[in-house]
Amino acid sequence: MFGSSAFEGMFESCDLVDDDETAFYDQAPRSRCIGVDGKDNPGYLPMIRSDVRFRPEEPRVGKVPPPVLTETQKNEIYKHWQSSGKIGTAISFGALSFRARRECEILARLYEHADPDFQDAVIDAIAEWMDDYQHDTERLYPVAKNSSSKLMQLLAFQYALVTHPNLYGFRVHGPMDEPEFEKMVKDFVDGFSKEETYRDIWTNFMQDGRCQFHQHRAGKCWRTKL
Ligand SMILES: [Zn+2]
Repeated sequence: MFGSSAFEGMFESCDLVDDDETAFYDQAPRSRCIGVDGKDNPGYLPMIRSDVRFRPEEPRVGKVPPPVLTETQKNEIYKHWQSSGKIGTAISFGALSFRARRECEILARLYEHADPDFQDAVIDAIAEWMDDYQHDTERLYPVAKNSSSKLMQLLAFQYALVTHPNLYGFRVHGPMDEPEFEKMVKDFVDGFSKEETYRDIWTNFMQDGRCQFHQHRAGKCWRTKL
């Protein structure tokens, strides 16, 4: 599940990772923010995400947590998307862990919006968020359970690509305790090409495969309306 070489180095040094797992993570997708691929030129521009439309607060110890997203902010992001095709959730300040966590929480709230075209656009933004961070996806599972199965499918797809089967049982990713999710993950693994690395499969998905997790409720992709 860990995309960074720093994490991998840590595990290698304490002998928790066998050769098979090392080989797996060598070919798995890596976080663009902290991995070896670098942040520039991802190859599937233009990005859907743009800079955040407001300044989210970082929770402070002992304080009442600030709201993830107010209704006003949610509407502002939605209207901005309607006029520009961009989803303003990319946080460019603060520690990496804060940016990853807070944006994931915001995207989860946005996916609850009633407009299915907007949900498809948020799926694209979630995929870009995953591309940046490749971890901490568990905040999206409760939303996926209560909405379209497309988001759950995307979560299973990404989980299958970044997780060695030896780690499927780790409870940090609770959905693997659910047989339906586990089956989804295993079905993806069975269907993956043996000719490509998992990193290539992820990159191809980011370049032109994101429609597989869209609903296309109006019969066509929201991107065709741009
Ligand atoms: Zn589409």
